[in-house]
Amino acid sequence: MPHLLILGGTSEASALAAACAAHGVAATLSYAGRTKAPAAQPVAVRIGGFGGVAGLTEHLRRERVTHLVDATHPFAAQMSGHAVAAAAAAAVPLLALTRPAWVAQAGDRWTHVPDIAGAVAALDGPARRVMLALGRMHVDAFAAQPQHHYLLRFVDRPDRPPALPQHDLVVDRGPFTPAADRALIARHGIDLVVAKNAGGSGAAAKLAAARDLALPVLLIDRPMLPARAEVHDVAAVLTWLGHAERGV
Ligand code: NAP
Repeated sequence: MPHLLILGGTSEASALAAACAAHGVAATLSYAGRTKAPAAQPVAVRIGGFGGVAGLTEHLRRERVTHLVDATHPFAAQMSGHAVAAAAAAAVPLLALTRPAWVAQAGDRWTHVPDIAGAVAALDGPARRVMLALGRMHVDAFAAQPQHHYLLRFVDRPDRPPALPQHDLVVDRGPFTPAADRALIARHGIDLVVAKNAGGSGAAAKLAAARDLALPVLLIDRPMLPARAEVHDVAAVLTWLGHAERGV
C-alpha cells in the first residue's frame, strides 16, 4: 500500500489530499506552520519543519513513506531542494506537483527581476503607490525603499507591524478575482504591482487586474531548483501512484 507524504502549503497540495482521501490512498499532508489556521483536511496533517535534509530523510524512513510529493509553493526553494536530497538518500520516489509559471499576454507591462533583492533595487526612484503582493516573509526587505506607499495583502494579521513606514494592510486569503483586485487597486490609487511568478489561477487575479488597468508589474522570476520529475495536475500524481483518476 502506498503511503504518501505531501509537502503542502498550496491549493494544489489540498486538492491532492482530497483526491487521496477519495481514492483511499493513505496520505499525510505536511505544513511548514506559517499560517495560523490552515484549512481542515481529509487526510492526516503534520505541522512544522523536519530539521533539514537529515530530518526529512529520517522522517521518510521512520514513517515508511513510499512516495513523496512536493506540492510546495514554487518559491519554497529550500524545502524543494531538501525534498530532492532526502528522497535520494531514503530511496523514496519523488514527484513535484507544480503550477506552470505565468507567461505574459498582450497588454501586460511586465519587468522581470530575478529575486526580491532585484525588486527592491528596481524600486529606486521617486515615490509611488506600490501593491506588494508578496506575503509577509518578504516585505521587510522593501524598507530599503521607504519613499513609496505600499499596499500589503496578508493571509493572517501579522504579530508585529510590517517595517514599512507608509503602508496599508489588507488581510484576506482569497481566492481573488480580477474584478475585486481591480477595485482594490483603484481604491488605493496603485501605480505599480510587485508580484512573484507563482503561477496558478487564484493568485493571477492581480496580474489580470494590472493588465486591465494598463499598470506596470515588477515580476519576480522563480528560483532555480534541482532537476526532478514534475507534473501539473492531481490526475498525473494518481497515475504515478498507480491509481487511475475516476472523476475526482
Ligand atoms: P522554504 O524557505 O523553502 O522552507 C524553509 C523551511 O521551512 C524548510 O527548510 C522546512 O524546514 C520548512 N518547510 C517548508 N515547507 C514545509 C512543509 N510543507 N512542511 C514542513 N516543513 C516545511 O519555504 P517558505 O518559502 O518559507 O514556505 C513555507 C511554506 O509556505 C511552504 O510549505 C510553502 O508551500 C508555503 N508558501 C510559500 C510561499 C512563498 O512564496 N515562499 C507562498 C505561499 C505558500 P526544515 O528544514 O526544518 O525541514
